[in-house]
Amino acid sequence: MAQIRIENVRKDFGTFTAVKSSTFTVENGEFFMLLGPSGCGKTTTLRMMAGLELPTSGRIYIDGEEVGMKPASQRDIAFVFQMFALYPHMNVGKNISYPLLSQGMPKPEARRRVQEVARILGIEDILNRPVGGLSGGDRQRVALGRAIVREPKAFLMDEPLGALDAEFREHMAEELRALHDRMNATTVYVTHDQLEAMQMGDKIVVMNHGVVEQFGKPQEIYDWPATRFVAEFIGSPCMNFLDFEGLVGAGSNSVELNNTTVNIPACREGATGKLTLGVRPEHIHFSDTSKYRGTVLATEYLGTTQIVTLETPNGEIKARMASNRTVQPGETVGLEFDERTLTVFKCDSGRALLSEANEGVLKHG
Ligand code: ATP
Repeated sequence: MAQIRIENVRKDFGTFTAVKSSTFTVENGEFFMLLGPSGCGKTTTLRMMAGLELPTSGRIYIDGEEVGMKPASQRDIAFVFQMFALYPHMNVGKNISYPLLSQGMPKPEARRRVQEVARILGIEDILNRPVGGLSGGDRQRVALGRAIVREPKAFLMDEPLGALDAEFREHMAEELRALHDRMNATTVYVTHDQLEAMQMGDKIVVMNHGVVEQFGKPQEIYDWPATRFVAEFIGSPCMNFLDFEGLVGAGSNSVELNNTTVNIPACREGATGKLTLGVRPEHIHFSDTSKYRGTVLATEYLGTTQIVTLETPNGEIKARMASNRTVQPGETVGLEFDERTLTVFKCDSGRALLSEANEGVLKHG
């Protein structure tokens, strides 16, 4: 299996830049997610890794070897475009063996490999069936089998579950992840679904307008977003943003929010002017003693938890709390924030201030 490194890679289509100077490394055996909204450059990045698109500038390495100018056929990477794209006139076994036989592999060896892949995917009993009558899940397994059977260095997958309904999608996501854990194959997976990325990925790259905003482990990205964009894109409801104007000195560990001192992780760098305090919904608590107050606008019951929307002096926020806490619209409550994960963003650049807590994460990102 392979390590894939993207170094200062850029892709222009005429005067439009789809990918702007991206750098990140997919380590050997990782399940790696390329995440971002539609049009942010995920597929273009994946296609450059596969060799289906040439970078305008920058370098791509597979296992330390530069492959930027190598055609797709020589990169030994399987690109899973759309799992349902099968050959309708062939049965399951022939669909899976096709890539091997077309490379000239002797039939007995190809048969052995197909059996092995069918065992891994749990489809040994349908090898002789025509693909036409298969269920969606089995068709997807067959398409995966066709990619796996080549034993490539890495798998590149572009929204492979995009066409499935929510329930089946979740099931297939679990199956794909389990398959990866069994095979330990380097996998790069494109999705615009933050939940899918968080559930499945060992690491995530978050892209926006062709720019890598951050890369790291799901929890690092959730706890310590490098930019306001990442903080908004990851999490549901997303991080709350309390706008304030003021000064955060280098080394300081508090901000003034509407004349209330709020403790934050100690800042490594200072900033002044328009700033935003980011707080996750589950890190907001009601407190009878807090001077910082909000008025309840609405509640949304979600079973064990509820989402409470509040108006505060610094804007509207959403808090997640246990649903057994009774709360009425119109009620005014004191609010406290978990200091540990508060993040201060600069309003102009949207960048998180470097703090003691997020330093390790933001530096390697
Ligand atoms: P989606 O999920 O919608 O496919 P994406 O993040 O994968 O989004 P890309 O497909 O990489 O985005 O496209 C990035 C941008 O580059 C888009 O604005 C797209 O229109 C543009 N683009 C992609 N391929 C080409 C091309 N061959 N010629 C011109 N523009 C292109």
